[in-house]
Amino acid sequence: MKKKLCFGNWKMNKTPREAEHFLSGFSKKISPKNSDHFAIFPSPVLCGVFTNSYPSLDWGGQNCYFEKSGAFTGETSPYTLEEMGAKYSLVGHSERRHVFGELDETLNKKNKASIEAGLIPVFCIGETESEFDSGATLDVLKKQIDLGLKDVDLSKVIVAYEPVWAIGTGKAATPEIVENVHSKLREILPLTPLLYGGSVKPANAKELYNIKDVDGFLIGGASLEVESFCQIFEEMSVS
Ligand code: PEP
Repeated sequence: MKKKLCFGNWKMNKTPREAEHFLSGFSKKISPKNSDHFAIFPSPVLCGVFTNSYPSLDWGGQNCYFEKSGAFTGETSPYTLEEMGAKYSLVGHSERRHVFGELDETLNKKNKASIEAGLIPVFCIGETESEFDSGATLDVLKKQIDLGLKDVDLSKVIVAYEPVWAIGTGKAATPEIVENVHSKLREILPLTPLLYGGSVKPANAKELYNIKDVDGFLIGGASLEVESFCQIFEEMSVS
């Protein structure tokens, strides 16, 4: 059954005061009965603000390490995230792949470690602009899935298709591209919720959400303001 997931990736944005301000505005607009549809991925140091200001709102780590504990300075254990109240972990966001050089084999370990710790990984896949231009999109995605989700229980993950060229560029993939890619992904991932991400905004949310195999969105820029984040959710109805 089609899901309605509205997930916001805050990246390295918002101080505790700004996060508190957002959550105070958000809680006035979205009743706890709808909060199941939402999750925010803040910097993990903001998790206390989430727990205090809007305890029923789900959140996730933007990254985690694949070991439980040990000499890994600067890393965050998925077990720590889980104990702090996280429900999800973002794995393989394009910035982790392209800015921090994370490889599919490492992401596979992170997916497995997240599940072992009790988190639901939101595994991000997507092709670069040159891969798109050369028609390699489906091959690239297939390889990322084969390696990143190797031996992973596919009923325990969410997959986000985020074309790298659409992230933060204002140039969302067209509904035709999303429909084509998501229908192919559905063939290999029949039980896995599929999100689209890349320049989703209130103006394109309805058309993109109406695509059969789109179960929701992973939203960057437009998740930073209560107004645009909630407007996207309001547009998420099937016509
Ligand atoms: C993202 O960061 O995952 C993202 C999709 O960003 P934006 O919505 O700003 O393109």
